[in-house]
Amino acid sequence: MTFKPFGEMTANEYAAIGFKSGLEIHQQILTSKKLFCRCPAGLYSNAFNAEILRHMRPTLSELGEYDGTALMEFKTKKEIIYQIHHATVCTYEMDETPPFELNDEALDIAIKIGLLYGCTMVDEIHIARKQYLDGSIPTGFQRTTIVGVDGSLPYRNRHIGVVQLGLEEDACREVSDVGHRRTYLTDRLGMPLVETVTAPEMRTPHEVAEVAEILRKLVRSTGNVRTGPGAARQDVNVSVAGGTRIEIKGVPRIPDIPRLTHQEAMRQYNLLKLREELHLRGITQDTLESKTEDVTRLLLKTRFQPIQTAIAQGHRAQCVLLRGFKGLLRWQTQTDTYFSREISDRVRVIACLTTLPNIVHSDSPSETLASAEWQILKRSVGASGGDTIVIVWGPGQDDKTGAAEVLIRAREATIGIPSETRQALRDGTNGFERILPGPNRMYPDTDLPPRAISEGHRSQIKATLPRPYWEIETWYHEIGVPADVVTPLALSPFAGLFETAVKEWHISPTLAAVLLIQLPKRVHKNLRRNIHFSVETMKDILLAHKDGILPRGGFFPALLDVAAGNAFSRESLPGRCSIDELGAIITQTAIEVSTMALHNPVQAATVHMGAVMNKVRRRIEGSIVAQAMNYTSREAQP
Ligand SMILES: [Zn+2]
Repeated sequence: MTFKPFGEMTANEYAAIGFKSGLEIHQQILTSKKLFCRCPAGLYSNAFNAEILRHMRPTLSELGEYDGTALMEFKTKKEIIYQIHHATVCTYEMDETPPFELNDEALDIAIKIGLLYGCTMVDEIHIARKQYLDGSIPTGFQRTTIVGVDGSLPYRNRHIGVVQLGLEEDACREVSDVGHRRTYLTDRLGMPLVETVTAPEMRTPHEVAEVAEILRKLVRSTGNVRTGPGAARQDVNVSVAGGTRIEIKGVPRIPDIPRLTHQEAMRQYNLLKLREELHLRGITQDTLESKTEDVTRLLLKTRFQPIQTAIAQGHRAQCVLLRGFKGLLRWQTQTDTYFSREISDRVRVIACLTTLPNIVHSDSPSETLASAEWQILKRSVGASGGDTIVIVWGPGQDDKTGAAEVLIRAREATIGIPSETRQALRDGTNGFERILPGPNRMYPDTDLPPRAISEGHRSQIKATLPRPYWEIETWYHEIGVPADVVTPLALSPFAGLFETAVKEWHISPTLAAVLLIQLPKRVHKNLRRNIHFSVETMKDILLAHKDGILPRGGFFPALLDVAAGNAFSRESLPGRCSIDELGAIITQTAIEVSTMALHNPVQAATVHMGAVMNKVRRRIEGSIVAQAMNYTSREAQP
């Protein structure tokens, strides 16, 4: 069968290929300081006062073995630049001083989230080091700790397991990665985040996104997590029957998840078919025949621009013969994506040949080398009709590293799906990122002693847990909260205030929801900046309304006043308009309207009403004005 396009596969068809997926969600938590030092958290800026250059070299891990990632990073020979600003980084992040004590505020938030998942919580916090060899953490490891294990989330009519909840440091922000140089900004480095790992229990791409959404809302309902771009990042792992658990790293948006996981399932399915085809052709890991030759001298006169330019700069070109591979580099892996890209990706990342195209091959000869050149190259390496040749070029040793990588990836195709992490691309497909780290990636950190968490402390935190947001949403629907504000309100810091306003002060649910969610949005839009309205301010406004001194028409002006920097106070309100005063205003306004030259005299009543409301909006309810004017106008009729 060919793998159906996204959107056309049924749940049964995903079950038939053995689709399985789990999530690892990294969520920044809202603390004022970083996790292991006292630098401020959440202060982002592209400015920097200094740059530090480091060469990453893998060392024997404490267990005495190199793992795949270490070897890969060794091959890439990257130079790492850290851009640092004194306001956001101290000597701890740059590995010049040992860690300070674990941030209490961060630990309490992590415990709260663990309790929310119903995890079994640890009695003692042990810090571990997780190896990070890509340079995104200058020390080469991340400090991390497990806070709880074995929780669960209700999902439709079943439960999704939460394998563990960890508390850890965030890594640097990557600025660029070109050739052998990678640059990082360090402001985010060391900020606390929680990592939620679910069991691989999602069975369709759609389910993965739904569960990610539940997790997002649940942690947000604590009011203790950061929001905005980059504050939550999903790693999604996917496998199909016979395939390999592949991690797609750093998916920024939940709506991207279904297409990405579908594409990864398709890739694994098609790579398994490719292995079948290779075996049918008699090509296995042991029988694969290949040959690599420097072909620079054969391409000196080529008119194919990328190679011509490279050779003019002194770069060299290698030709890799893959015996019996004819047509297979055009084997489809993902939508509009072929096996050749698996190879090109490896060459790009591992040989640092980042300018594309970085390979050309004889399965797709058009618009690259001239056909006479292909003939010369094939003859030179002894390729016959059933073979494929791949050309790779680059400076220094990169052409050789690249050629070796072409062969490594071709050989892996005879075995199955290589273990690696992959990155989400904009078109919904994914590309190679790194070889998957080995199991020996974690080891104990001896800089900090274990830290006990008492039962009493846990109970204290348990008392602050929010009600599950899905229960709150059900209640909102029942009492008629407008559908578009249900979720934002349930996840906002105003959820508690809303409940009090409705249950105890008997304020209309719609009115309270409009004040708490819609009007602040309107203020942001009008002023084009984000204004923080505190729970206290909103409470005072609602109470003023309950006591009859602030009509609903006064809400928006009151918020604008707060946005202008004034504290909300009852004393500064214009005071309630009495019925007598209202009558006088209506009469006075009628005179003003009668002197106007109205385009359409039929609208005189509407104009009159509008003019009165302009005068009294902040002082009395519109419904009372309407009633009074109706009465007045009826009285005036003959
Ligand atoms: Zn610091």
